[in-house]
Amino acid sequence: MATGKINVSVDNIFPLIKKFLYSDHEIFLRELISNATDATLKLKHLSSIGEAKVEYGNPIIEIKVDKEGKKLHIIDQGLGMTEEEIKKYINEVAFSGAEEFLDKYKDAGKDAGIIGHFGLGFYSAFMVADKVEIITKSFKDEPAVHWSCDGSPEFTIEKSEKEDRGTEIVLHIADDSTEFLEDGRITELLTKYNKFMPIPIKFGTKTETLPKPEGAKEEDPAPTQEVDNIINNPNPAWTKQPADLKDEDYKSFYRELYPMQFEEPLFHIHLNVDYPFNLTGILYFPKLTNDLSVQRDKIQLYQNQVFVTDNVEGIVPEFLTMLRGVIDSPDIPLNVSRSYLQADGAVKKISSYITRKVADKLSSLFKNNREEFESKWNDIKIVIEYGMLSEEKFFEKADKFALFPTVDGKFYTFDEMKEALKDKQTDKDDKLVVLYASDKEAQHSYIEAAKNKGYEVLLMDSPIISHLMQKLETSKENISFARVDADHLDNLIKKDDTQISKLSDEEKESLKTKLEEVITDKGYTIQLEAMDSDSAPFIITEPEFMRRMKEMQQTGGGGMFGMGNMPEMYNLIVNTNNELVGEILNTKTAKKRERLINQSLDLARLSKGLLKGEELTNFIKRSYEMVK
Ligand code: ADP
Ligand code: MG
Repeated sequence: MATGKINVSVDNIFPLIKKFLYSDHEIFLRELISNATDATLKLKHLSSIGEAKVEYGNPIIEIKVDKEGKKLHIIDQGLGMTEEEIKKYINEVAFSGAEEFLDKYKDAGKDAGIIGHFGLGFYSAFMVADKVEIITKSFKDEPAVHWSCDGSPEFTIEKSEKEDRGTEIVLHIADDSTEFLEDGRITELLTKYNKFMPIPIKFGTKTETLPKPEGAKEEDPAPTQEVDNIINNPNPAWTKQPADLKDEDYKSFYRELYPMQFEEPLFHIHLNVDYPFNLTGILYFPKLTNDLSVQRDKIQLYQNQVFVTDNVEGIVPEFLTMLRGVIDSPDIPLNVSRSYLQADGAVKKISSYITRKVADKLSSLFKNNREEFESKWNDIKIVIEYGMLSEEKFFEKADKFALFPTVDGKFYTFDEMKEALKDKQTDKDDKLVVLYASDKEAQHSYIEAAKNKGYEVLLMDSPIISHLMQKLETSKENISFARVDADHLDNLIKKDDTQISKLSDEEKESLKTKLEEVITDKGYTIQLEAMDSDSAPFIITEPEFMRRMKEMQQTGGGGMFGMGNMPEMYNLIVNTNNELVGEILNTKTAKKRERLINQSLDLARLSKGLLKGEELTNFIKRSYEMVK
């Protein structure tokens, strides 16, 4: 037996490492299985080029828990190591790597972005074990070796009896890490990190039911057999060529990724590029709801089929973090902080590649099957609108396929919409006024009023839509958006057939005074308008600008600081041609007038959704009295 001392400058750096990696101890298993995988793939390569004269066969990696002996075994059938190689790769390389790591990141220990993603390799075993053994036999014709180290820089190395090729790592689990002796915990880790690794990983066995033999009786139990419990799928869909996959394969891979998800994805995008960087993956568009916050962090990042993280912030543009799927790239640096990542040139290229692929896919869906695209619009609009707001490059492309639905279920692109509205919805300055509703039910009476005038009304109901309209108004020429209950409706739109007021100027003066005597609420600006007699007597509108600013404040608009809480401001449009308004003016008793005004105002408020609580209760009570 030989003993030796590992050449590190600190006497015992294990406790230090332990402290540093505090929150992420569990990655040791990923690291050791990665090494086992590397060793197996290296052997495959060597045998394929004829350098290793061995039968490669169907190697697997096995994980074994020995709860009694407090040991965890990781066993591979890879190329193994000779004594020389152990000395070189374990004693020198692995340990110096660890020391270097410590040096470099001593001060950055708090940054989880660094620690969590730094492959500490073999060394990470000491985060959970107080003694580690390596029993290994090389594919070369040399004796097997047994290496052992108890966490101090001293190690022993001796001959071993191991006969079959490969490496067995034995971890003597430390007292503070006994969680890693629980089957459940190991299964959890294997599913998290190793679900798609390229070599089959065995953890225990499972019982498989076999078909009943011919002639078996109904009551005979079906025969069973014990088989290896393989926890991974070594050939996940993203590693295959798109041409070899059918739509159903993509869907079943989605189910594999998200077993708890019952809803099918809307469509997928297969990413596959090898220059100027390496990246594969599949992104899925799920059905999205308006609650943006819950849908993040569903994209998984892999490096050569090893799970790294489900936080792809910085790698995938923000607006696409609502998608699902996997990205696999060896070119994404993981041993750096998030802020560094965002500034990294290669990562920027990856991010813009992904943006472009998503835009191209949407564009081809739009072109090839517009009907289907329209039917999915409601579920994908939030991503597209968000992308248009945040990425100029995406805006340029999406401008051609982003849709503007009408309340009647027609869909326009921006250009189509301009074309359709240009003759009927322009204001005095020939500016296009796009009318929209944000809620079909709540704004029903306004929508009807606008439609009766021959206007077209869009349905724009995403939570960020006011930001997008703001952007369209500034980046496009001669266009403005106004909600159906905005004051624009009658101010902005050209009045070809200006209605003649039935009231004289004196009558109007008198009407206004009478209204102001009753309506003392300063929140209403009273405006008399001559509309057709069928239009409602009172209509409440709200300045578009004020309302939109309020909405943008709520959804976090940039540059909105210092606006404070904006007051509620409404216009009360009084239709001087309506019969009821005439009655308000001409009625003899002040009491009746007051009642007519209040009731009409409340009806207008009801229609705008402003009548609530006690006021609503009183209104209903009063109305019952009236119908009695
Ligand atoms: P890395 O994997 O980044 O090279 P590690 O610290 O994980 O660093 O491993 C150090 C080296 O030890 C590996 O490069 C490899 O040569 C050797 N090694 C580790 N585990 C095994 C194994 N299971 N089979 C063969 N060689 C191994
Ligand atoms: Mg490694």
